[in-house]
Amino acid sequence: MQAFVLVIEDEPDIALSLSRYLERAGYRVSTRHDGGAGLEAFLNDKPDLVILDLMLPGLPGLEVLRSIREIRSTPVIALTALTTQEDRLHGFELGLDDYVTKPFYPLELVSRVQAVLRRSGMNGVLRGRGGLNLDLERHAVKLGDATLELRPTEFALLAAFLRAPGRVFNRLELLEAVGDESRDTLERTVDVHIRNLRQKLGNDHGIETVFGVGYRYALE
Ligand code: CA
Repeated sequence: MQAFVLVIEDEPDIALSLSRYLERAGYRVSTRHDGGAGLEAFLNDKPDLVILDLMLPGLPGLEVLRSIREIRSTPVIALTALTTQEDRLHGFELGLDDYVTKPFYPLELVSRVQAVLRRSGMNGVLRGRGGLNLDLERHAVKLGDATLELRPTEFALLAAFLRAPGRVFNRLELLEAVGDESRDTLERTVDVHIRNLRQKLGNDHGIETVFGVGYRYALE
């Protein structure tokens, strides 16, 4: 599975060279040149990671970040000429995952992208309770020594839970996570997947029902 990176950067040269380097490193890349278009692409395309220039025409970068954070916990790396301590702190308060100051070496940014994705579990192994291991590259799930056979939808659901333990997901968000956004069978579909997933994970499944809202994964 190729991770998908959204680059929001108004300087065409930087955006172009960045997307070339990222593509060479194996990522799928999309670029936008202002804050509004960037936010729209974020909502529509659901990237795995966002590279966000903070000095943007139109909607400022920190506003884009704030809007992103209201919706999803997608990792965001900021790109900026602003270097004051205050800006940095403000960015981190808003939920930035990393910061790169211009001018920068594209390869350095690529390695930051890899590190952030690894931390967020995009490229590697997600862990859950009771020795649960979900290997995103091999698409394999183990519970202790036992291999679990999960359907692709169950795998995607579990990955969404393990990326954000403790977070409450509503059913629509869970359908988005499995790539099924037809709303007609909304509740029942999710509930069936969850029931099957719980059964496969056993007694210590960790998937809690949040009454009237949806589900959450409890790490302990
Ligand atoms: Ca800029």
